[in-house]
Amino acid sequence: MDAIILSIGSELALGETIDTNSAWLAQRLAEIGVGVLRHVTVGDDIEPIRRQIEQACGEADVVLITGGLGPTADDLTRQALAAAMGVELVLRPEWVEKIRSFFACRGRSMPQANAIQAQFPAGSEPIENTCGTAPGIRASLGRSMVFAMPGVPREMREMFERDVRPMLAERTGGAVLIATVLNCFGAGESDIGQQIDDLMQRGRNPTVGTTAKQGVIGVRIHSRGRSAAEARKLLEATEQEVRRRLGTLIYGRDSETLSDAVARLLVEGGKTVSVAESCTGGLIAKRLTDVPGSSRYFRAGLVTYANEAKTMWLGVPADLIAGHGAVSEPVARAMAEACRRLNATDYAIGVTGIAGPEGGTADKPVGLVFISLADAAGCRVTRHLFGDFLNRGEIRERAASTAMNLLRLRLMARGGQACSA
Ligand code: AMP
Ligand code: MG
Repeated sequence: MDAIILSIGSELALGETIDTNSAWLAQRLAEIGVGVLRHVTVGDDIEPIRRQIEQACGEADVVLITGGLGPTADDLTRQALAAAMGVELVLRPEWVEKIRSFFACRGRSMPQANAIQAQFPAGSEPIENTCGTAPGIRASLGRSMVFAMPGVPREMREMFERDVRPMLAERTGGAVLIATVLNCFGAGESDIGQQIDDLMQRGRNPTVGTTAKQGVIGVRIHSRGRSAAEARKLLEATEQEVRRRLGTLIYGRDSETLSDAVARLLVEGGKTVSVAESCTGGLIAKRLTDVPGSSRYFRAGLVTYANEAKTMWLGVPADLIAGHGAVSEPVARAMAEACRRLNATDYAIGVTGIAGPEGGTADKPVGLVFISLADAAGCRVTRHLFGDFLNRGEIRERAASTAMNLLRLRLMARGGQACSA
């Protein structure tokens, strides 16, 4: 089964209020195996609302509408639905009484305006609202079941859980739609997309798609099944295939962060780490200590920002800095090596770079960052050009993520692991 979700309200269309109802409903629908074709937001005008209802009812099995059921002149969902159905609104006196008693329970008399909420398109059914005055409406139109619910999120959720969800779940008979995301770092979205191109073809079940945020590429897998077990089995097969192709690019699944992955590997291997940071200003130390229990592996982080600090705290020779510049391969190397020795850790990371927006030159542009990683086998320095199209904050975040990822890969290579769980 497929659904279309319509959100009604000019405050939503104008971006003054964020439409949280659609996201919440889409997640609930997935739990009962109903896919969502699209979300549509429409302002408070009867004709556009009617058109959207008619169009949705020609396409989807289920049309969920929220908002516009209030008592004021800008609440037009019931009128638009009646128009789409080609019927009149009919007053149901027993519902006037229900609304009146809702007010009476709160020691108030019902304003005359609320009587409109007891009007329903002929042939439709009211849905009780236990936490507000606006009853919902259940109707049939075209090939669709239509449910109109209040816009107030609390009222909508209560109505959906109590009445709408059971009705839909009965139709889908235990079907579910489950999702997982495999988080990747170290390649661009198009590179990753190319490696799983065939799995991303439309019309497949599970479907596979990618998202990109701050260098992290998420490979999303959505699986439909007639039962949870069937959906899980299909998902696992596709997940395995994605893992086989992307290997160590994948650092975790769902909410797992690079910090979680690194922490797990450090704890498993009983290893310790320290960091000497310049342009990241302590971000890597922060990332390493984001995870509870980080005292098991994290020893110290030094933010040696000024040249003098690099010399005073890490013993980086002043003439090395003068000769090569603070942002250079030899200085990055000296930072990690000294940091490892001074803190007596298994691993040490050094970072020096130009976060901008000022300070770039032709041969050392903004976004140039050297990252060093020292361990018992030696020290390796990598040079990165994150690009001056990123802002200062983004360059620093990207540098921190890249350093965390380099440590992750080193830990996996040492531990002989092919891929994180
Ligand atoms: P309505 O039922 O259109 O009178 O909406 C009542 C209130 O619920 C509005 O003032 C909105 O702030 C809120 N609301 C309506 N639709 C949504 C939505 N899709 N997401 C979040 N809040 C909403
Ligand atoms: Mg409204």
